This record gives sequence, structure tokens and C-alpha cells, in this order.
Amino acid sequence: MKYFIMFGPPGAGKGTHAAPMVKKYNLKHISTGELLRSEIAAGTELGKQAAALIEKGNLVPDEVVEGMIAQTFAKYPEVNGFLLDGFPRTVQQAMDLDEMLEARDEYVTGVISLMIPDEEIKARIKGRALIEGRADDASDETIANRIKTYHAKTEPLIEVYKDKGIYHEIDGVGTIEEVQKRVFAMMDTL
Ligand code: AMP
Repeated sequence: MKYFIMFGPPGAGKGTHAAPMVKKYNLKHISTGELLRSEIAAGTELGKQAAALIEKGNLVPDEVVEGMIAQTFAKYPEVNGFLLDGFPRTVQQAMDLDEMLEARDEYVTGVISLMIPDEEIKARIKGRALIEGRADDASDETIANRIKTYHAKTEPLIEVYKDKGIYHEIDGVGTIEEVQKRVFAMMDTL
């Protein structure tokens, strides 16, 4: 089983590029953000608790997302692997993921990191707000907090994965087609 991580700041295009990747490489896409939004839409207790944090641009607790990840791993034994999108987002989550995989004698295959500058993040999220109507894309304050949270809590993972020798950075600026070509070219080597 292969385990790929789609990494990058909010708005980098992780979801957009994950869709064709899972088709081409027969992977199961796990987006923790999407799973949380489904919980919110279904009105579950977990969803209610998550909504307040998400709307402010804060992270939900590690154990909540880790529970969702573990459940999804167990559900899809027939795929070639998994594409984790939006997870891990903290150093603790990365350590817990390693532990989860080690227990199955497995490890993270590669980290595909889509990089775009902060100014581009804001512009892209504002564009997406008009199309998808996500609550956390709507306010400047929430967007600013998500960018701050990314730099403080998620960016340190770059060093963690560089040290492991599995970090692969891709320039996320360009048209969807241009970036997709770069992503596929990288994936073909992994
Ligand atoms: P995303 O769709 O990946 O942009 O995620 C939307 C929101 O869901 C984030 O801003 C967080 O509030 C929450 N979220 C998604 N994934 C995680 C995670 N791995 N850890 C904590 N919170 C998360």
C-alpha cells in the first residue's frame, strides 16, 4: 500500500490536483476538510464541535482527524494506496500517522508539496468562495488566521519530511494543466 501526502497551504490546489491523481494511480482520496464538512452537513455532534473551530480558521483537535483517517484506512483494502489531503497538519499528527502506519509495517511513500505565495493564497481562496460557498472562505479574518495557522503549525512539517528524504516540492503557480503536468511527472518517479 502506498501512502502519499498532498501538502501545501490553504488554496494551493490540493483538492483540485488530488482528483485526477487518485484516478490515474488508483488511490483513495482522504480529505480531512471534506470529511469534516460532511459531518457538519449531517449535523453530527462531531460536526457541531468542528464547525465553530473551522469557521474561525482554527484546527480541530488532532484526535478527531486521526480517528477519521484510521476509519478510512480500514474501509478501503482494495486500493493501491491513499492520498492524504489536508492531513497531517501538525507535527503531532505526522508522528501519530507514522505510528499508525508502523503498526501495519508501512510508511509514508512521498509528500507532494504544492507551493504558492501568501498573496496568491488570498486571491485563490476569494475566487473559490464565489464558487464553493465554504463558510471558512468567506471572511478576510478567517483567511488570515488560516494562513497564520499554516505557517505556525503546518509549515514545520516541511523540515520533518525533508529530513526523512520524502519531501517533493512542486511550484503550484500556473494554470491547472501546467501544475497537473508537474504533479504527474513527480508522481511517476515515486
Ligand atoms: P481544508 O478543506 O483542508 O482546507 O480544511 C478545512 C478546515 O478543516 C481547516 O481549516 C481546519 O479547520 C479543519 N481541518 C482539516 N484538516 C485538518 C487537520 N488535519 N487537522 C486539524 N484541522 C483540520
